[in-house]
Amino acid sequence: MAGEPQADCLFCKIVAGEVPADVVLDTATTLAFRDINPQAPTHVLVVPKAHYPNAAALAAEPPLSADVLSTAGQIARLEGIDESGYRIVLNTGSGAGQTVFHVHAHVLGGRGLRWPPG
Ligand code: AMP
Ligand code: ZN
Repeated sequence: MAGEPQADCLFCKIVAGEVPADVVLDTATTLAFRDINPQAPTHVLVVPKAHYPNAAALAAEPPLSADVLSTAGQIARLEGIDESGYRIVLNTGSGAGQTVFHVHAHVLGGRGLRWPPG
């Protein structure tokens, strides 16, 4: 069922505390933790605690979509990158680089970010 934990999902395991993570912010509906392979001085992943495979599936739950973006904004403020600028990335599909199919927003900042992304 939509939103139910998936036994084989890494980010469900992190949410459940079964896999350790460097947690930055824990809200009622979201968890933010540092990416294990950071691509910028700040690289934090924001996930809904409920399992949705990608952004389009998450959009079926509008309050949860807003919660993920709200947490991303809070992370930017906590990390001190809200003034300099930062990027929120939702890779969607393996062709776009998605490797974990539990939706997550990358919050990237602390360095110059080129456009278009690679
Ligand atoms: P994506 O490629 O958009 O699906 O992003 C998945 C991200 O998860 C990558 O940036 C990985 O470095 C990151 N990642 C993989 N395993 C872990 C982990 N155990 N803890 C934190 N981040 C992870
Ligand atoms: Zn999951």
